[in-house]
Amino acid sequence: MRQVTILGATGSIGQSTLDIIALHPDRFELYALTANTSHQEMLRLCTRFKPKLVVMRDLESSKLLKRSLKGSTIKVLSGEEGLVQVVVADEVDTVVAAIVGAVGLIPTLAAVKAGKRILLANKESLVMTGALFIDAVKQHAAELLPVDSEHNAIFQCLPKGSVGQDAAQGLNKIILTGSGGPFRDTDLAELDNVTPEQACNHPNWDMGPKISVDSATMMNKGLEMIEACWLFSVDEADVDIVLHRQSIVHSMVSYKDGSVIAQMGNPDMRTPIANALAWPERIASGVEPLNLLQVSQLDFTLADSARFPCLELARAAWHLGGTAMAVLNAANEVAVELFLKREIKFTDIALLIGKVMEKTEVVAVTDLDSVLNADAAARRILHELVRQRARSL
Ligand code: NAD
Ligand code: MG
Repeated sequence: MRQVTILGATGSIGQSTLDIIALHPDRFELYALTANTSHQEMLRLCTRFKPKLVVMRDLESSKLLKRSLKGSTIKVLSGEEGLVQVVVADEVDTVVAAIVGAVGLIPTLAAVKAGKRILLANKESLVMTGALFIDAVKQHAAELLPVDSEHNAIFQCLPKGSVGQDAAQGLNKIILTGSGGPFRDTDLAELDNVTPEQACNHPNWDMGPKISVDSATMMNKGLEMIEACWLFSVDEADVDIVLHRQSIVHSMVSYKDGSVIAQMGNPDMRTPIANALAWPERIASGVEPLNLLQVSQLDFTLADSARFPCLELARAAWHLGGTAMAVLNAANEVAVELFLKREIKFTDIALLIGKVMEKTEVVAVTDLDSVLNADAAARRILHELVRQRARSL
């Protein structure tokens, strides 16, 4: 029996993970579920899944949940300390890192340092810390398994044990696929006026709001390029990005002998999550088998950098190295949040990230503080840029 903690249980990845766990009560037991503020949804999950512990990061929400759970044996914790406690506990062997954004870093890294099996959805934590994260995986003999569909696909196409190791022998390229999001065909002049609702309406995937906007700008693919470099020990130049509108081929690995190995499936996150949960075994995920006759056609085209300037920003951040990736990630998080609140335009996202990158000094990632300082500085600068602009209007 695997004892599982799900960080971000009320989110899109969290819910898909719970769906799979519900199919296999003989394999998985829930140790802890965590969320930020959604205590009512958490109450529903507690009634259905009966974890031993629950963490609400937000103190008020934890008090409300405690009140609702009065008389139950489920313990309620709060804060970042609570998140860390439920990943490092001896009873736990598997941690699903599905919190969105940089706030996922501390508990995810705690799971790494406790040598757990980590199912990584929270790409932001790896993008911002890079070598620090991968070195900790090696040092603490943690088992890092990618859940991001592209990286799980690549993981399946590479020789066994490739995560965090030297680049696979005979590798030519990693080919990351991306659907291009909801604005892949939108007139460029109209991008100024697109709304958060339109940006979150992804044609192929049903995801949380932040990653949906990242998919619309394709910053998601930029972050994934960096994620792939750290996970599989390759360079930016080894990763091609192609648009594939059907989201059936989740990514590919091209080898020197001319072979290209692809992983395919319906666009449903339960497949990569089930793959990582049971690895190296295969279990049912509840996903319908792919019917290629129904799909009938697979298209691949170049990702246009005029439409998707975030791709270049991510490549530039990789080349700058050090804290530049933490800056890229933090500036993106703030810009996306402001766009979702209708305080900036969709096209401002890339513009502002570019300006923040110009204004920040890149230093080497020496320890966690160097990353957290860069993250905080980037957030401050982005807010200041938006304030300055509002004053000048
Ligand atoms: P979501 O917005 O649906 O859920 C986020 C979860 O994180 C929720 O449970 C929420 O309570 C929790 N959370 C948010 N802020 C928090 C905070 N301050 N402290 C503690 N917990 C907090 O997000 P999602 O779409 O499930 O994405 C989660 C992660 O997985 C992201 O890093 C995303 O990039 C990655 N990912 C998602 C998908 C997908 O299909 N949704 C695919 C690939 C990768
Ligand atoms: Mg992905």
